[in-house]
Amino acid sequence: MNKMKFKNSKLAIAAFAFTVFVITLGCSKKDVISTVTTTDNTSVPAVYQKIYGATSITTDGTWVYIKTKDLPDHKSAYYPASNALYEAYSGTTFGGHVFNKNPNSIIEQTGNFKIPLNPKVNAAHAATPLGPIGIALNGVPFFNQYAGPSQPLSNEIVSFDKYYGHPQQSGMYHYHVEPLYLTTVKSTKSGLMGFLLDGFPVYGPQEENNTVVLSSALDLYHGHTHATVDYPNGIYHYHFTSDAPYLNGNGFYGTAGTVTQ
Ligand SMILES: [Zn+2]
Ligand SMILES: [Zn+2]
Repeated sequence: MNKMKFKNSKLAIAAFAFTVFVITLGCSKKDVISTVTTTDNTSVPAVYQKIYGATSITTDGTWVYIKTKDLPDHKSAYYPASNALYEAYSGTTFGGHVFNKNPNSIIEQTGNFKIPLNPKVNAAHAATPLGPIGIALNGVPFFNQYAGPSQPLSNEIVSFDKYYGHPQQSGMYHYHVEPLYLTTVKSTKSGLMGFLLDGFPVYGPQEENNTVVLSSALDLYHGHTHATVDYPNGIYHYHFTSDAPYLNGNGFYGTAGTVTQ
């Protein structure tokens, strides 16, 4: 079932991309006549079109600009009770912990991500900041392995909802660990989950041959290089793992872009 859904959504994305392409062809002809400068959307790589939760995705040939309202497309105990996606929850969460809700609620955000179109390794490997370090396919930000400056995540894990996300004090919903709605409903355990700010892609906790990936198989930045279905020529990519640091280790592999709110 899940695979079928994913295939259908792939078809939908392909159909959408083709429509955008046709429309844009029409637009660019008009632009030549009227000499109006517009953002060229045709060169947004197809892989970025997988970010279905974004409100817009554009590129200027150097950066990919992704806007999000950060409203998860799945049920959560953190939506206000008046929201259709609110669902009370009392089961277990990541790592088998019993869910213990934090006092925050999901609030719509203004997230503007600026990510390098052509990611490059940067030997400085800058540390990841607190707050958004990347974006998931459903428009939800990724956070790193810390709850605060030098504070481990361990006490926060109980507050992850049934899909392993939670909001912080200002209502910004985010994932520190495997986004379970993406790995089990929208994609698969080995599928693309999103991107970090340095432009390198993030994959789920398994490889395409269903091998489970653990941190010990990855480098200090929590990634490695090989071909994936989205990048047949091979690319450096991060993986979510069930063991700490879950998504990123000692910093960005490449040069990070920015995120503003
Ligand atoms: Zn958090
Ligand atoms: Zn891999």
